Amino acid sequence: MDNQSKPTPQRLLGTLRQYFPRTHAVAAGAASLALALVMFSSTPEVEAKRLPLPVKLSSAEPMVPGAAAHSAAATSAAAAEPQQTLQTKTLKVKQGDTLSDLFERAGVNTAEMYQLLASGGKARQLADLNPGESLTFRTDHSGALQNLELHRDALNLEEFSRGDSGAFKYALHQRQPENYTAYRKAEIKSSLFVAGSDAGLSGNLIMEMADVFSSDIDFALDIRKGDSFGVMYEEKFLDGKKIGNGPIQAVSFTNRGKTFNAVRYVDIHGDANYYTPDGRSMRKAFIRTPVDFTRISSSYNPRRLHPIFKTRRPHYGTDYAAPTGTPVYAAGDGRVVKSGYSKPNGNYIFIQHGQHYMTRYLHLSKRRVKTGDRVKQRQIIGNVGSTGYATGPHLHYEFLVNGQHRNPATIVSKLPKAKSIPSSEMDRFRTQTQPLLAQLENYQRPALAQRDDDSDNSSVN
Ligand SMILES: [Zn+2]
Repeated sequence: MDNQSKPTPQRLLGTLRQYFPRTHAVAAGAASLALALVMFSSTPEVEAKRLPLPVKLSSAEPMVPGAAAHSAAATSAAAAEPQQTLQTKTLKVKQGDTLSDLFERAGVNTAEMYQLLASGGKARQLADLNPGESLTFRTDHSGALQNLELHRDALNLEEFSRGDSGAFKYALHQRQPENYTAYRKAEIKSSLFVAGSDAGLSGNLIMEMADVFSSDIDFALDIRKGDSFGVMYEEKFLDGKKIGNGPIQAVSFTNRGKTFNAVRYVDIHGDANYYTPDGRSMRKAFIRTPVDFTRISSSYNPRRLHPIFKTRRPHYGTDYAAPTGTPVYAAGDGRVVKSGYSKPNGNYIFIQHGQHYMTRYLHLSKRRVKTGDRVKQRQIIGNVGSTGYATGPHLHYEFLVNGQHRNPATIVSKLPKAKSIPSSEMDRFRTQTQPLLAQLENYQRPALAQRDDDSDNSSVN
């Protein structure tokens, strides 16, 4: 890795200056960024792991403690002993490249490669190279490999360096991106997507936002001109360059005059979900359809004429036609009470959700969970097929409430939402979410009084 590109406090300040004009919605000035960082660093343990503390931002090398010398140290050591100057060559991994191809291109004897591979453990992973990664070879005057760096991505560097015994030692150097809070808001004039894109949101973030509110707002039917949103999320930077977005932290959506607020919370089990500010889950306990289907080929009908037996047989489920292999999702969190095969059902899965609800999935081509497994909502449990008594590939889906069949297509919207935060966890919930909600509110406040230098940016909002 190029030493020039390592973050220094000066470089970082440059980053902030560069970054600031774009986050115009943030009240201008470093003070508010500092505030944002303080607020972030005060989020409790689970989050704190992901978000480096502000002090970390100025540390040039957040390396694994006790790790072997990184290139910086290696280079300075070499400078102290000029007779040991190492030859450096960096090569990008291309499609189809093997490790020996790269050794050849680097002009390093393959005997060195076998020695490296013989050091075992992590060295064997060198055989598993992907296009876009790069390798840095460092050889001494005799051409012997002293050090090899594998740059997996911007954040992960694996280093193999020859020790005194001649064997290679392994060290993983991980860098932490700098996380900043970003806020974007927009009023919808034509579509959510256009408004989101104009406000600078990626397609993924727009989808993520729609997903948060999907059980309150039907984004296909309910969106009106004049609806608006404000979304607060993380942006990740490395060496002054944006490398990606973190999750939405808090978001507000006004639909036809009604405002919905949601905040992200990581619960005591480590699961992240979105909640209303008073701790009610934003999502339904069950998704409407457990498969992305092409059409409903047979509806729930307790008085139906059966297509194969031509007798009046009730149809206690909904059939969703979809190509063989289409993923089938668990409709809600639960436990697999049966994953098996029978002549009429073909491959089938029954999931129990709490005390009162059961969902059933029939005619699968593949089952991906076993009896006794715990499953999460939207986890893939199998694939659409036509095993058992089926006229073509489809998912036969049943929904039972207290042992009674109900219409899967209509029951879901009548059921309560997923569990709220238990009262025993409310203090923890508030500690984690209140700073985020306060920050969101702060952003949403008309900011005229706080802003003095961004009048040219007002059109972006
Ligand atoms: Zn059916």
